[in-house]
Amino acid sequence: MRALTWQGKYDVRMSDSFKPRLISDQDVIVKVTGSSVCGTDLHLYHGTVLQMQKDDILGHEFCGKVDSVGRAVKTLKPGDRVVASACIACGDCYYCKQKLTSVCENSNIDEVQNYLYGHRTAGVLGLSHLNGGFAGGQAEYVRMPYGDTTLLKVPDDVPDEKALFLSDVLCTAYHAVVRVDVQKGDTVAIWGLGPVGLLAACFAFQKGASRVIGIDNNWRLEYGKSRLPKLETINFSDIPSGSSVSTELRKMVDKGVDRAIDCAAGEYPKGIGHKVEIGMGLENDTSEIVNEMILSAKKFGTVGVVSVYTGYTNHFNIGAIMELGIRFIGVGVVPVQVYWEELLQQIQAGTLDPTIILTHRIDLEDVPKAYAILDAREEHMMKPFVQTKFSDPPAPGTPALTRF
Ligand SMILES: [Zn+2]
Ligand SMILES: [Zn+2]
Repeated sequence: MRALTWQGKYDVRMSDSFKPRLISDQDVIVKVTGSSVCGTDLHLYHGTVLQMQKDDILGHEFCGKVDSVGRAVKTLKPGDRVVASACIACGDCYYCKQKLTSVCENSNIDEVQNYLYGHRTAGVLGLSHLNGGFAGGQAEYVRMPYGDTTLLKVPDDVPDEKALFLSDVLCTAYHAVVRVDVQKGDTVAIWGLGPVGLLAACFAFQKGASRVIGIDNNWRLEYGKSRLPKLETINFSDIPSGSSVSTELRKMVDKGVDRAIDCAAGEYPKGIGHKVEIGMGLENDTSEIVNEMILSAKKFGTVGVVSVYTGYTNHFNIGAIMELGIRFIGVGVVPVQVYWEELLQQIQAGTLDPTIILTHRIDLEDVPKAYAILDAREEHMMKPFVQTKFSDPPAPGTPALTRF
């Protein structure tokens, strides 16, 4: 089969690979009909994620058709349309029984996280051996362990272009808004207007937020406003010297915002101090955005972190959190299974349109180019739908194929 493989820093390629086969009784082999590239995949592309190996197949967002099932699989049969959960979960451990599948205790055999976090998270599809080393969905076939838990049946009236985002970004954005506790009338600021940031803004309005302000520095600001007309924006590159994002936000919202959500990334320091400290190995992540959020929040407000942070950070404003009663929340990797049925119902009812983030349809063979384009934030590419030779034609109202 054809699959996208990781070959090293800034080097991903299409390769011929072996079609996966059933290994355990709970496995399901899925023929992929749609996948995507995620902001998280770019961290692998940059080579900043530990324990990557040459020829690893990437991708944790995909949908498809069941090809074959293991003997113990109860809910699925060949031919069923399904969407996959990004996290691999056993469905049976202490956490899975509470549906907290992203911290499953059985699906990730890697030991490194125990040293870093004192615990392990669940395995994640196509996301390094640090997360279990599962082959991912930017391919023609995928082996999904624990198929009864990790696959959701997709009804006929929901096209792949809408079902696909239940794998991760749709559930992640919703999880963020639920975790930071957005309430009717709240003011909400969101750092980063990528797919997760934009969907979080959409869900914040859905929960009754009175104002939502998105912070970014490129075309995604205009794109966000074109999809959500009530969205307000701050371009952090246009802020006059001497001012700051928090100062500008405090000018726009008296007393500060009720909820602040970081949907950007902790990998990129802005100031020289953090650049030096990360370079010297004195910290893993920058605290700049987190501190901006803390200074932008209302007293007793909530600050939540969705983006990828991996370890320790310096200069974290713990004093402001304590003195002002700010609630600091690690949103955590989304336990997809808590939300995906509810969100699928919303899609069916027409109250939620996940395609607000869908800008392109590309072919699997062009995925390496999509990594470079998304990394450079070019072509106004927000989120691509990746077709394979098994895909249906584009659903009405969704982008036609672009070849790069
Ligand atoms: Zn993702
Ligand atoms: Zn489990």
